[in-house]
Amino acid sequence: MKVTDHIKAAKGKTLFSFEIIPPVKGHNIRELYDNIDPLMEFNPPFIDVTTSREEYVYIDRNGLLDKKLTRMRPGTVGICASIKHKYNVDTIPHVLCGGFSKEETEYLLIDCHYLGIDNIMALRGDAMKDEKYFEPSEGGHEYASDLVKQIDNLNHGIYLHEVIETEDCADFCIGVAGYPEKHMEAPSLMSDLKWLKYKVDLGAKYVVTQMFFDNKKYFDFVKAARDMGIDVPIIPGIKPIAIKKHLQLLPQVFRIDLPQDLVDAVEACKNNKEVRQVGVDWAIAQSKELKAAGVPVLHYYSMGKSSNIKAIAEAIF
Ligand code: FAD
Repeated sequence: MKVTDHIKAAKGKTLFSFEIIPPVKGHNIRELYDNIDPLMEFNPPFIDVTTSREEYVYIDRNGLLDKKLTRMRPGTVGICASIKHKYNVDTIPHVLCGGFSKEETEYLLIDCHYLGIDNIMALRGDAMKDEKYFEPSEGGHEYASDLVKQIDNLNHGIYLHEVIETEDCADFCIGVAGYPEKHMEAPSLMSDLKWLKYKVDLGAKYVVTQMFFDNKKYFDFVKAARDMGIDVPIIPGIKPIAIKKHLQLLPQVFRIDLPQDLVDAVEACKNNKEVRQVGVDWAIAQSKELKAAGVPVLHYYSMGKSSNIKAIAEAIF
């Protein structure tokens, strides 16, 4: 079922959803299930599965280092299929521009269609670890909007090299990313919102936001988006802080601000167990306010660990 239909069916009730990351290559999928199992009692209508960018690894071949490009956490579509099958829940693969040609993306989308996946999160992807700026792959898309266009085309039987008239067209509901504190490369929030509107005009049906720790940023963003004519659901993304290092890491990686009260509370913690509790309490307070404001879904970034998300969900749902 499409995310937009889940939202309609909920008739104003806030839904619970979360995002997981595929295990590192060679690890068992059981570890993933162990983290999903405790969250299923909160009835998530859908679970997102991220896609990681490829990266360079160095393989020792008799003392000579061989540089190879590889994806350390592959398997997004396979994981979507296995979770969908195991838990009877909708799963949403994150599909990236980065690292894929348009042709490869078409094959991936066709796989998703055969698997009965109804939603696709269309993203550009970040720059690779050793790149300063995002570089599109050869034959790949430059912006998420180009990917949205490709998916929307497929929904109309328009493949890359031919138009196929068929009764069995894909009908993906397309999600895209939004940034309450603007995307790190955008010169201004207005410019970023203009491109967000472009993604919606091209066929995106809902937005999921980057994490934020001050709800005012989300409320202001939604207002600015509405003023600009973006009328699709805007789902807030919430991440509980879990370790002290997040104080530096999250602003550095995601270019977001942390409220001073939260920084003070984390700094006062004696260990990461206490930090975890501060993170859970903060996310509960955020979630309560967002739920009271009638957000359609509260979407949690689990980063593969469920115990803190479970504690938050218990307080909210
Ligand atoms: P875009 O919408 O393409 O925007 C990128 C930048 O270009 C923005 O600054 C925008 O303002 C600007 N822009 C957009 N279109 C144009 C245009 N036509 N001309 C000029 N400028 C333009 N990353 C992963 O690698 N894997 C994931 O699974 C993943 N999941 C995510 C989930 C969510 C909810 C969010 C919010 C982010 C996720 N990301 C993920 C991170 C995301 O890939 C990065 O933030 C990336 O840098 C931008 O992606 P985007 O889809 O927002 O790009």
